[in-house]
Amino acid sequence: MSGAGGKIGVTAPMLELRDVARAFPVRDALGRSKGAVRAVDGVSLSVPRGSVLAIVGESGCGKSTLGRLALRLIEPDSGSILFEGEDLRSLSAAALRARRRDMQLIFQDPFASLDPRMTVEQAVAEPLRLHGIVPRAKERDRVAELLSRVGLRPELARRWPHEFSGGQRQRIAIARALASGPKLIVGDEPVSALDVSVQAQVINLLQDLIRELGLTFVLISHDLGVVRHIADRVAVMYLGRIVEEGPAAEVFGNPKHPYTRALLAAVPGQGRGAAALLEGDVPSPINPPSGCRFRTRCPHAEAICAEQVPPLADHGHRAACHLQHQLPPAIARHERDAGGERLKRLQAFFSDQRTGE
Ligand code: SF4
Repeated sequence: MSGAGGKIGVTAPMLELRDVARAFPVRDALGRSKGAVRAVDGVSLSVPRGSVLAIVGESGCGKSTLGRLALRLIEPDSGSILFEGEDLRSLSAAALRARRRDMQLIFQDPFASLDPRMTVEQAVAEPLRLHGIVPRAKERDRVAELLSRVGLRPELARRWPHEFSGGQRQRIAIARALASGPKLIVGDEPVSALDVSVQAQVINLLQDLIRELGLTFVLISHDLGVVRHIADRVAVMYLGRIVEEGPAAEVFGNPKHPYTRALLAAVPGQGRGAAALLEGDVPSPINPPSGCRFRTRCPHAEAICAEQVPPLADHGHRAACHLQHQLPPAIARHERDAGGERLKRLQAFFSDQRTGE
């Protein structure tokens, strides 16, 4: 599969994360320390310019925290974040503010992401004004252009957010994100709060914008149908770490890690997620298992899995599993086929939905 942005043959990374970590302290009701949640623990990733990287995993795996770290909306405890080769952690507050126009975030909930006291025009014009992008006299025209670009009629600009549907609000949020002329957008579950038919329309819109504007896009999602439709590369997270990463076609076509296989075998939308296919509960992120963090749920675990952290090594693409070379291929093929059929149906559905809302 070819993602929206993969056709631009430039390979220099737009974004690079090197060994990034962030923990959040946990306290009891009396304020006493109860340890820390290691939300992101030593993640290294590279996002080529003009490409779409999807970060996938179950709720609580750290993918949303990683997205915010990538934009330096929250501070890492350690590691480097390079944007066009420049370490964001070394920037002064003023330099970071100036850089912000190049990096935007689209939130999951279109109902919460727009200020109910601002008209659509005010909401979309705010970043234009903040970054001094167009003179005041040209603001209205630029807002109208941006609304047209996301498939909304410019005359809707005087209306209030509550007058719009969820899909329309997410289009407004996208117009606002585009206003500063960003190079990189992080979409944190940008369609998961929408009805499924509207999801397809908004994802198709994002795909068109990524291609037309040459955007680099980081998609945070638990929905593998959406990911398969749009991503060039996929990184799979489990308890704060990347367990598999590579080109989307390879990760979907030949998953190496048992957790990725479980995700692919799950049937989205039918109440049977990866958790239903795996043994045991998700471990506490405050006290994760030794060695491989997936070992308490992995059907293939052996002694070495408790003793040593598996490196994210190249097995055709990167995967972190000690026993990758001896996993039963028959199970992998069976799991892949079960997930693949569902994903194919989802892709056909997205293609059928390329009409207006
Ligand atoms: Fe399973 Fe061991 Fe591989 Fe972890 S390292 S995924 S526990 S086989």
